[in-house]
Amino acid sequence: MRIVVTGGAGFIGSHLCDRLIARGDEVVCVDDLSSGRPDNIAGLLGSERFTFLDQDIIEGLDVAGPVDAVMHLASPASPPDYRRRPLETLAVGSRGTENALRLAHRHGARFVLASTSEVYGDPVVHPQREDYWGNVNPIGPRSVYDEAKRYAEAVTSAYRRTLGVDTGIVRIFNTYGPRMRADDGRVVSSFLVQALSGEPLTIYGDGSQTRSFCYVDDLVTALVAMMESDQAGPINCGNPAERTIAELATLVGEITGCPVVTEHHELPQDDPTRRRPDIGRAQALLGWSPQVEIEDGLRSTAAWFASRPEEVASAAAD
Ligand code: UDP
Repeated sequence: MRIVVTGGAGFIGSHLCDRLIARGDEVVCVDDLSSGRPDNIAGLLGSERFTFLDQDIIEGLDVAGPVDAVMHLASPASPPDYRRRPLETLAVGSRGTENALRLAHRHGARFVLASTSEVYGDPVVHPQREDYWGNVNPIGPRSVYDEAKRYAEAVTSAYRRTLGVDTGIVRIFNTYGPRMRADDGRVVSSFLVQALSGEPLTIYGDGSQTRSFCYVDDLVTALVAMMESDQAGPINCGNPAERTIAELATLVGEITGCPVVTEHHELPQDDPTRRRPDIGRAQALLGWSPQVEIEDGLRSTAAWFASRPEEVASAAAD
């Protein structure tokens, strides 16, 4: 297959590119490197089946030659990133998604939208099933991401209904693994960087809020399964093993072997209280369920950060 991956130099996108190249596909990776990094795809640049386009998809998206699938992952995705670039986040979720859909339409290609558990906002239904419509504050600081992705789901569904584009929507829950940016501000990267640097772990609020963490290799398997299916979705993709943030801090201490001190900071506005996917649809329709236990996933992520002391030191100094 010949596959366009938007956001292909990002954390999840670059792992997806690796997997596709390893399977023998051709990949056109499109990224403006605003949060993605050249390092993430450095190992692929030598492959003649891999092409990199340094391009902002808000401006348009044109790819020469045939396209069988468009995997649309481009967007800032960590809360500090989208708080720093609110207008770009809205633009890439709306205009960027429309440009990616147009590309799929022109080529008669399968289109997969990387949506998010954030469409459920601060959910009042637990665990979250795909038929729950969510509880999003439309004007709060997180809304630039949440509403952009909700719009992206709406426009994707309209292209399917109106123009017959073969679209699929996956809702990605918290994902972690090697190639997370040390300074992306997410909880897994922050805790690992802090533990490895001997800094206190910053728990926002009392640490009783929960998340369910999926290892990136598992997530990529789900994305490929969705690409190969004709499912419209939405389909939740995440690991249903739910942890409190305080439990995660303890686990990071155990795994890194670093003595852990915690300090409490104010909980950000609209921070979801509980989050856990119901993955019944993914299991039934894609034959997918996550395989990697959090202890193993955290161990490889910690090892990856430990092999980049300069990056960790500079993130810790921020
Ligand atoms: N969090 C925390 N300390 C940090 C970063 C995040 O306690 O240094 C909390 C955050 O408030 C949220 C959870 O960890 O409740 C997950 O945050 P993250 O930014 O990783 O992703 P989110 O699920 O909020 O998009």
